[in-house]
Amino acid sequence: MAEQKKKILEVKNLQTSFYTHLGEVQAVRGVSYDLFEGEVLGIVGESGSGKSVSALSIMRLIEEPGVIKEGSSIIFDGVDITELDNKEMSEYRGNDIAMIFQDPMTSLNPVYSIKNQMVEVIRRHTDMNPEEALKRAKELLGMVGIPDPEQQIHDYPHQFSGGMRQRALIATAISCNPKLLIADEPTTALDVTIQAQIIELLKKLQEEIGMTIILITHDLGVIAELSTHVIVMYGGMMMEKGTVEDIFYNPQHPYTKGLHKSIPKVGEKNKERLVPIEGSPPDLMAPPAGCPFSPRCPHAMKICLEKPAPLFEVSESQVSACWLQDDDAPDVAGYKKYKGAK
Ligand code: SF4
Repeated sequence: MAEQKKKILEVKNLQTSFYTHLGEVQAVRGVSYDLFEGEVLGIVGESGSGKSVSALSIMRLIEEPGVIKEGSSIIFDGVDITELDNKEMSEYRGNDIAMIFQDPMTSLNPVYSIKNQMVEVIRRHTDMNPEEALKRAKELLGMVGIPDPEQQIHDYPHQFSGGMRQRALIATAISCNPKLLIADEPTTALDVTIQAQIIELLKKLQEEIGMTIILITHDLGVIAELSTHVIVMYGGMMMEKGTVEDIFYNPQHPYTKGLHKSIPKVGEKNKERLVPIEGSPPDLMAPPAGCPFSPRCPHAMKICLEKPAPLFEVSESQVSACWLQDDDAPDVAGYKKYKGAK
């Protein structure tokens, strides 16, 4: 019998809003998903889709005027972390859930050496003495590909290149063997060659230590390289979810299809023109009553303007929040009806 994977994270009906003077910005509107040990979940969407806010919600790093709303639950390793107080939550951060951000320079303190910063994090989360923590920090720097950890650990962040800083941050993030690593646009601030190296590094960590990762990005190429599963977000909601093969070879949501058409593909056979998705993302202070993609969707129907689509089951591994999957919807070329609403 196949071994049952352990569920690490269960996000249920996550709703996160920012209460500004202008009104409520509904950044995340009812997102639910499960994450199992060893999976790499890519969350993709345009800026303002809610992907980063959903990750920050898992870390409980939403700052005022942001609020994780009543009715949301984030069950991490069996504990609903929305119910923890700040002190209890800080035990989880760094220890069990670690995060790396887009810009490594803002995540490192410029006035402390890499050594000081890494040793401090390791000692805060373990019972290692300073010598043991230093040894561990050097091992980790070697593991993430810093050429001369013995010497370079004494450097300050400005002496590291952008790619090396991101490596140092990844080393710090994994120093306490977190059960979950959240990487928010980890390659966006880096040039293309370094991006590829950081992707390779994350891939290696995933393969060698089986790390469970949530990867937030607007870049479908990064998703294809690293993810086992994918969520496509739009207007604060989940539009489609499936394995990486589902999302790349059998996308069933018009927004996912639009994303595919708008990115260049390598290879001779793909000489199709790129087609941008016309229009702009919804105003999250007054989102459409129905499907958030309806103002930009070429197939929008009356019902799309009235009610958000439920998640229709495309297969055991794939769901799509699109009314085109409904039995009563007209047939549209390129879309196939599957099993019905979940
Ligand atoms: Fe388009 Fe309607 Fe599907 Fe939304 S639910 S993506 S508007 S067809």
